[in-house]
Amino acid sequence: MTIATQINPIIEEIEALCRDLGMVQLMEICGTHTVSLFKTGIKSLLPENLRLVSGPGCPVCVTSQGYIDAACALAGRNDVTICTYGDMIRVPGSGGSLEDLRARQGADIMIVYSAREVVSSARKHPDRKFVFLAVGFETTTPATAAAVKEADALGVENVFFLCGHKLVMPAMNALLAEGEVPIDGFLCPGHVSIIIGEQAYKPVAGDYGKPCVVAGFEPMQLANGILFLLRQLAQGRSEVENVYGVAVKGAGNKVALQLIDEVFEPAGAVWRAMGVIPGSGLDLRGSYKKYDALAHFGIELGPDVEPPGCLCGLVIQGKATPADCKLFDTGCTPVKPIGPCMVSSEGTCAAWYKYNR
Ligand code: SF4
Repeated sequence: MTIATQINPIIEEIEALCRDLGMVQLMEICGTHTVSLFKTGIKSLLPENLRLVSGPGCPVCVTSQGYIDAACALAGRNDVTICTYGDMIRVPGSGGSLEDLRARQGADIMIVYSAREVVSSARKHPDRKFVFLAVGFETTTPATAAAVKEADALGVENVFFLCGHKLVMPAMNALLAEGEVPIDGFLCPGHVSIIIGEQAYKPVAGDYGKPCVVAGFEPMQLANGILFLLRQLAQGRSEVENVYGVAVKGAGNKVALQLIDEVFEPAGAVWRAMGVIPGSGLDLRGSYKKYDALAHFGIELGPDVEPPGCLCGLVIQGKATPADCKLFDTGCTPVKPIGPCMVSSEGTCAAWYKYNR
């Protein structure tokens, strides 16, 4: 059976439900969902009165400009090598991006594929200080925690972590508590849910009455995720359902959660244009604080300011779409991005540029 044969009946049921429900707005909180909805063509098959908006699910996009500025300040030091996943080097800070600093001043910046690479590089070059830009949601945090533990076990003293990891649930709660964006249900992130488990969304379904469905990234997963949300709305239910059971379990990955808890403790964190969300970030815990880059170098995160005209802060909260931004495809393109949503391969603006111009 072809995918089209399997999907068609689902789309027909989605259309039928939407005819009865009227205008429906669902939010995905995952950059990979944002891209997959376009890439698979699912978004183009949905009825007009079903609106999908992106939430704060792209880790690069939610990172504040103040964090980028702190990373750039460290990159400007002669004794520091900045280590980061690829997308971060192109995010503009107030004085340019890390990539700009490398071109202008020869800043030492290393693209890594895992946090543990940073520890091994630090061991090979004891004369330099290595700073890892620790950003990402619960998906990437366990790898950072493992690297911190490894550095500690090996007695490595020249590696530091610029802590920018974030937790998804406090951001969902903040959006709902603010209540500015009408959200009828959440397509919950596949990767993050592997770690935190489907039960994590129970308060969203229970306390706020918003249906939640965990889904993966294939066309059938996405279509079923949307269908299950609409069925809940049509039946007046508000529950957590999971169509990605092959990867996501009820309580998540307990080993990974324990690892995070051993190395990090919850702290307030600045989300781009959302301000400080209490308990939404992670700081190093106890004896691991010696690896904290801010403390070691005696610097602070800069203010969170948006580039002039950029609506990234609104885009990541579902309050605007890239089409609302006057700079989209005029002053801001993937080649010359102005905001992080155009830089990141998981950013909403980059996805719109690639699939929806
Ligand atoms: Fe920001 Fe560019 Fe997106 Fe506009 S199009 S919101 S400037 S990233």
